[in-house]
Amino acid sequence: IPGMMMDRPLLVSALIEHAERFHGAVPVVSREHDGSLFRYTYAEASGRAKRLAKALLRLGVRPGERVATMAWNGHRHFELYYGISGIGAVMHTINPRLFEDQIAYIANHAGDRLLFVDLSLLPLVEALRGRLATIRTCVALAPRAALPAGTTLPGLLSYEELLEAEDDDFAWPQFDERSACALCYTSGTTGRPRGALYSHRSTVLHTMNCCAVDGHAVSGEDCVLPAVQMYHGNAWGIPYSATAAGAKLVLSGRQLDGETLFRLLEEERVTFSLGVPTVWMDLLAYTAPRGLRLTTLRRVVSGGSAVPQSLVEAFRRDHGVRVIQAWGMTEMNPLGATAAPRHRHLGASEAERDAVNQTQGRPPFLVDMRIVGPDGAVLPHDGRAVGELQVRGPWVISGYFGDPAATAAAITPDGWLATGDVGSIDPDGYLRVVDRAKDMIKSGGEWISSIALETAAAAHPDVAEAAAVAVPHPRWGERPLLLVVARDGRAVDAAALRGFLAARLARWWLPDEILVVAELPRTATGKVSKAALRERYRDRGLP
Ligand code: ADP
Repeated sequence: IPGMMMDRPLLVSALIEHAERFHGAVPVVSREHDGSLFRYTYAEASGRAKRLAKALLRLGVRPGERVATMAWNGHRHFELYYGISGIGAVMHTINPRLFEDQIAYIANHAGDRLLFVDLSLLPLVEALRGRLATIRTCVALAPRAALPAGTTLPGLLSYEELLEAEDDDFAWPQFDERSACALCYTSGTTGRPRGALYSHRSTVLHTMNCCAVDGHAVSGEDCVLPAVQMYHGNAWGIPYSATAAGAKLVLSGRQLDGETLFRLLEEERVTFSLGVPTVWMDLLAYTAPRGLRLTTLRRVVSGGSAVPQSLVEAFRRDHGVRVIQAWGMTEMNPLGATAAPRHRHLGASEAERDAVNQTQGRPPFLVDMRIVGPDGAVLPHDGRAVGELQVRGPWVISGYFGDPAATAAAITPDGWLATGDVGSIDPDGYLRVVDRAKDMIKSGGEWISSIALETAAAAHPDVAEAAAVAVPHPRWGERPLLLVVARDGRAVDAAALRGFLAARLARWWLPDEILVVAELPRTATGKVSKAALRERYRDRGLP
């Protein structure tokens, strides 16, 4: 028999509606292009999202239609999150740091009709114009007076003008929670971008997990600054979870450099932030030599790539901040696991707790994980068996948007998503990602984990960052090359580093060559680009 509970659909508009009614006075702060800070409240943001919804309807946007954004973290982008999805259209966040070819491919593949673009990104859109086949209208996220006179975009609209023409007397439509709400393409670290099409249901369930204590624990006591862009996996869900929880929200604009972050974290009394390890390294490289201390920040989630232990220690020592490792992927809305301790870790030594945090974490309920051997056999959760990680759950993609070939390659016949990550799961449920399948180094038929090499090298006091890549080798097939960046004001001695690694790694894992470089190439989301490194060093003979 049916349960007798109200069948209210799980729609993202319910989050902003809740914020308007119950967190109305909580501030949202946004750093503008000129560095000034714009401040308003959830109630005002909600009102403007409603005006936007009415403007979109007036422009003829229909349910299911893709509406693109090309914007940094800002209050108008935040309004787009709700205005577009709230009327049943699909918000497609485009990463402006991708190559132009990739951007054109993504926008055309998505069939975007409308594009909302930050003023600072107008030149990029102008340059791309001839290659954007489906976009009919561009809207600049600015008042009319700020639009450049000489723009080559025909009929460029002003966002503020659109909103001024509407009022906020609007009730969000109710529709099937399985409808699509947002579209996000993988950043192309491992090939052609593929689209993850989130639903309202997946996003609301994911939001509840972000607010859960073993998730991101976003709460009404927090002030949250996502140090990850809103086009990268929806800023890891923060525009939804902060809104739902009524956390004060700080949107940092384009800049995620150490100085900008430090100032915002301090001036806005931020308690919680999230980002990739590179961002944290930049922040610490800014604070350490100046003797600066973060006074309100309590915890940081680091994800996107493995977090170096040295970073965890520096945050704790210099700032009293706890770093929590999280693992996720665009295909998972994007949070897949958090390194949350268990009751048995209560009173455990710092080293033991750090060891937990060096895993990629354990999945929240509703997310299921398994590891599978090369023959397809499901392997035990014994912390030793290593195989491909597969996941399933209500916030895992069931296929790639408009891409049957990519879908067939990624979804197993029994309905799991093959993640491309390789790892183990221990009896406590903690996942340990050894590598991405494509980044592993195969030497003499045996696998070497590039992440393990990098973690070991990054533990050396002179090393700021390390990347290990496979280089073709006539005898072994592939051998590891290690690239290291020295810490500010220090120099890396390759021979000494080799000795350091020899004490920590199997002999045959030791890199054949160690190169000290000034910096490492990055992908559009700030990760080290292994593909670029492989390309650069492919023809280099190892000693
Ligand atoms: P892309 O695949 O284009 O980089 P994503 O941001 O979706 O785009 O990346 C997801 C991948 O990032 C995961 O499959 C995994 O390989 C890696 N990753 C994410 N978090 C971690 C982590 N904490 N440790 C190691 N790898 C991680």
